[in-house]
Amino acid sequence: AKESGKNSICFYTSDINDRLLHYQKITALLRNALVAGTLQLYFQPQIDLKNGRMRSCEALLRCFDENSRPVPPDIFIPVAEKSGLINRIGDWVIDAACKQLTAWKDTALGDLRIDINLSGKQLTNQHLASHILQKLHHHDLRPSQLGVELTENEVIEGDEVQIGQLERLKNAGVHISIDDFGTGYSSLLYLRKLPVCSLKIDRSFLHHAMENNSDMAIMQAIITVGHSLGLSVVVEGVETSEQDNLVKTLSCDLAQGYLYARPMPADSMPAYLVSMGQ
Ligand code: C2E
Ligand code: CA
Ligand code: CA
Ligand code: CA
Repeated sequence: AKESGKNSICFYTSDINDRLLHYQKITALLRNALVAGTLQLYFQPQIDLKNGRMRSCEALLRCFDENSRPVPPDIFIPVAEKSGLINRIGDWVIDAACKQLTAWKDTALGDLRIDINLSGKQLTNQHLASHILQKLHHHDLRPSQLGVELTENEVIEGDEVQIGQLERLKNAGVHISIDDFGTGYSSLLYLRKLPVCSLKIDRSFLHHAMENNSDMAIMQAIITVGHSLGLSVVVEGVETSEQDNLVKTLSCDLAQGYLYARPMPADSMPAYLVSMGQ
């Protein structure tokens, strides 16, 4: 018994060590990337289902390890949030999105809106809204060219200061989306009080709705209530034409997913636009 107790302590310790090592490795990677300028935004089109046109795209952050292999954001974003690096990284993302919009100005991609992901931590900075609006102004961009995505829980856990920030952004014309909708604990009616333009239904809903009638009914209900609140509804994770048909039947407004395009570097976007005949 003594031995197994010792063993379990051993395992426990090494587990903590592993986590600490992982944490240190990722924070070092992020710090280096910020200094070396090796972070990159990838872009994934969002398609208007009424006319098949690309109206906006989501900016997804990419970080690369020492062998130039991509490290998934699901790994490095939580570490960035924990270490506080998320604020510097978030500022980098805002800046990079503005630079990309500027580069696309006067090209076929000039009307495209870029939606960036915000972490709830960033919203606790009471200067975030004015920082974003200043950046847009500095780059001579219209606020409506930018969107921000926040998950349901991040918005709901927000206090008045944080909601006030979103209100400022929305009043200025920045598009506000609730991300991963359906996975958190908000009620649809609560949305009425929030400064929101779009709902993005989490891809797990679509994938379940393909197999299960009650999940399909839930998805239909979310879309109907979203519409009745004046919100546009985006479905993410559209991978197959069956799923595409379903989201069209449910009168979703926009779709995003591998069926249309995977997230891609900015250089690939002009050719994508041409390939879809836009
Ligand atoms: P998210 O905001 O829910 O982003 C959508 C994720 O789904 C992306 O993963 C995208 O590549 C993936 N995806 C898109 N279409 C499909 C599809 O058809 N099927 C499947 N299975 N997946 C699809 P990614 O790029 O790995 O990003 C993961 C998460 O990391 C994002 O989830 C977001 O929460 C976070 N993230 C990414 N960039 C940023 C950022 O700049 N700031 C912050 N705070 N978070 C970010
Ligand atoms: Ca998102
Ligand atoms: Ca999402
Ligand atoms: Ca997510």
